[in-house]
Amino acid sequence: MGKYKITVLPGDGIGPEVISQAIEVIGAVGKKYGHEFALEEAMLGGCAIDAFGVPLPDSTLEVCKSSDAVLLGAVGGPKWDTLPGNKRPEAGLLGIRAGLGLFANLRPAVIYSSLKEASPLRADIVKDGIDIMVVRELTGGIYFGKRGRYQDEKMGEAAFDTEAYSTFEIERICRLAFEAAMKRNKRLMSVDKANVLESSRLWREVVVRLSKEYPEVELSHMYVDNAAMQLVRNPVQFDVIVTSNMFGDILSDEASMITGSIGMLPSASLGYGTLGLYEPIHGSAPDIAGQDKANPIATILSVSMMMKYSFGLDEIAKKIDTAVVNVLNKGYRTGDIASSGIKPVGTKEMGRLIKEEIIG
Ligand code: NAD
Repeated sequence: MGKYKITVLPGDGIGPEVISQAIEVIGAVGKKYGHEFALEEAMLGGCAIDAFGVPLPDSTLEVCKSSDAVLLGAVGGPKWDTLPGNKRPEAGLLGIRAGLGLFANLRPAVIYSSLKEASPLRADIVKDGIDIMVVRELTGGIYFGKRGRYQDEKMGEAAFDTEAYSTFEIERICRLAFEAAMKRNKRLMSVDKANVLESSRLWREVVVRLSKEYPEVELSHMYVDNAAMQLVRNPVQFDVIVTSNMFGDILSDEASMITGSIGMLPSASLGYGTLGLYEPIHGSAPDIAGQDKANPIATILSVSMMMKYSFGLDEIAKKIDTAVVNVLNKGYRTGDIASSGIKPVGTKEMGRLIKEEIIG
C-alpha cells in the first residue's frame, strides 16, 4: 500500500467541475487498490487573482513542491482578460511549470475506435484508431532564446528570436522520450529541421548517440514540415514523437485536433524525479462553465497519466483507461462528443459512470 500526496488546483471556469469528477476517480482507485491519496487544494489562475492579487501565490507553489504530483483543472476567463500579460491567469501556468522545473510536456493524442466519427480525418486514414504521444521540450529553444529589435540600415526596424539548444537540454528531453517509448510500442520519431538549422543538426547527433542506450527502441527522424503533413496523411505510423519547444507546440496542437475532441485529451509535464503536473489540454471553457456540460474525461485521463508517470502504478492507469473506453463503448457521450440523435450525459453522470466501471 502506497501513500501519495496530490495537490489539486481546480482553477477557473469548468476547472472545478472536471476536477471534482477526477477526485471521485482518485477516491475509487485508492479504495479498490488500497492506496492512500492525500489531497490538498490550492489556488491558481483567476481565482488566485481574486483572493491574493496574483495568479500563482507563493503558498500554492510551496504546497505543489511538497507534493508527489499536481492535478490542475484549467485557468482563465473573460473576467481577467483585460489584465496585463504577466498578471493574467495564464501567467500562473508558466510560473508553476518553471517553479517545479518541468522541462517535458507529454501529450497523448488518441482516437478511440468508438469515437472515430469525431475525427476530421477520413475513416480509411484513422483505420482502427490512433495512439500517438508527443513529447515536447518545454523550457528551451526559441521561446526562451535571445531576442530583440534593431534598426536595419536598408530595411528599417527589424526583430530577431534565437533558437538555441545545448547537448544537455536535448539529451534530457530525448532520454525521457526514449523512456516513454519503452513503456509503449518502442518506436521513437525525432522531429527536427536538420536540413536548415544548426540547432537541429546538434539535436539529431545527440538523439542518435543516445539511441545506443536504448537498442530496443526503433529511432527514426523526420523534418518538421513532413511531420506536419504525415500527421494528417498517415498518423497511424507514429508511436512517440520527440521534438523542440516550438515544433512541439505546433505539432501537439495538430495531433490533438485530428482526434476531434478537445475534452478527451490529457497531458503531463515532467522534470527530473517523479513530481509531475497533470492537466487536461483544454481551457476553462467559460461558455459552458457551471452547466454540468463539460467532458471530464481529459481530466480523468490526466489522473491515469499521474498514476503511471509519477507513482509507477501502471495497473491503476490501465484500469482507468479501460473504464473510459468501456463507458464510451456502451454509447455514453457528453455533449462535445455526442453525434446527432444521441442524448448526452452531463459532467457528473459521465464521472459517475467511469467510477462505477472502475469499482466493477
Ligand atoms: P477552451 O479549451 O476553454 O474552449 C474551446 C472550446 O472547446 C469551447 O467551445 C469549449 O466549450 C470547448 N471545450 C473545452 N473543454 C471542454 C470540455 N472539457 N468539455 C466540453 N467542451 C469543452 O479554449 P478557449 O475558449 O480558447 O479559452 C477559454 C479560456 O481558457 C481562456 O481564458 C484561455 O486563456 C484559457 N485557457 C486555459 C488553458 C489552461 O488552463 N491550460 C488552456 C487553454 C486556454
